[in-house]
Amino acid sequence: MRFPLSTDQLVHMVEENRSHTILGNTAQYIPALANQDPNQLGILLMGAQGDMLMAGDTDVSFTLQSISKIISFISVCQEYGLEHVLEKVDVEPTGEAFNSIIPFEIHRPGKPFNPLINAGAITVSAMLPGNSTDEKFQNLIEFIESFIGEQLELDEDVYISEKETAHRNRALAYYLKESNLLELEVEEALDIYLKQCSINITLKQLARIGLIIAYNGKDPITKKDVFSSDVARLAKVLMVTCGMYNASGKFAAHVGIPAKSGVSGGILAAVPPQCHREAGYGIAVYSPSIDVSGNSAAGTMLLKQLSSMFNFSIF
Ligand code: GLN
Repeated sequence: MRFPLSTDQLVHMVEENRSHTILGNTAQYIPALANQDPNQLGILLMGAQGDMLMAGDTDVSFTLQSISKIISFISVCQEYGLEHVLEKVDVEPTGEAFNSIIPFEIHRPGKPFNPLINAGAITVSAMLPGNSTDEKFQNLIEFIESFIGEQLELDEDVYISEKETAHRNRALAYYLKESNLLELEVEEALDIYLKQCSINITLKQLARIGLIIAYNGKDPITKKDVFSSDVARLAKVLMVTCGMYNASGKFAAHVGIPAKSGVSGGILAAVPPQCHREAGYGIAVYSPSIDVSGNSAAGTMLLKQLSSMFNFSIF
């Protein structure tokens, strides 16, 4: 397969965009993430036959952070059905920061606005299938492993670092508890949420997840149905409307690819096969210097350039 560009071209684009890392900084509020090298930038594209094109710092692993939110959402939808899940969490963007308490306080909506902000994600973590926090986390990690056919591990240092500094998330979880929206105790729900954020992933594994989302839940490599097309459709809608936090509108306008970012600097992107483009791709990007919205600064710029050059936008 035929990527629309050569490795040399991609290498050139990465080096051009690397300077944008100065537009952000590593996530300072999680000490273990603050230590990442802010100059790194790597990208990997995966096509429907498992073929890959990569450039930059590709030999890296990093934690999923908020990227895990789209997978936990897919998992609960698969388990309980869309109707049940949408009773507990809405699909409306907030226009506020991912960890803001403001939308909840002001609008008192009766359920979190969407599963990709922290309030919604913590609610979803508590809903994961399993009878204990350990079982729920185990089920989630096994679900993610079923996408990639490889075992994944928790980054203990990041998990501990997050747990010690999760004051805002703890506040959000208490708020959810007070509103009767949390199916577990505060510390239980937080534990699952912080563990899922601390799962280690490589660019290749992340691109494979993006590829399966791009192909509506059916792995084009193994032909296995990983999750239903209804769930995939909603996942992509959420990635477009809420996946890049409160910069989702700009990302949709200038990049136009369903994507989900995390504060470790990772971006998961799913380029679906559609009318003007026969082939779909999964794209993973890593560059830990994040901008004010919490998105990888250079990673976003690289995707923007790639999308405009090769017409990856779904719009
Ligand atoms: N663990 C991070 C947090 O809850 C995840 C946030 C993110 O990636 N935006 O603050």
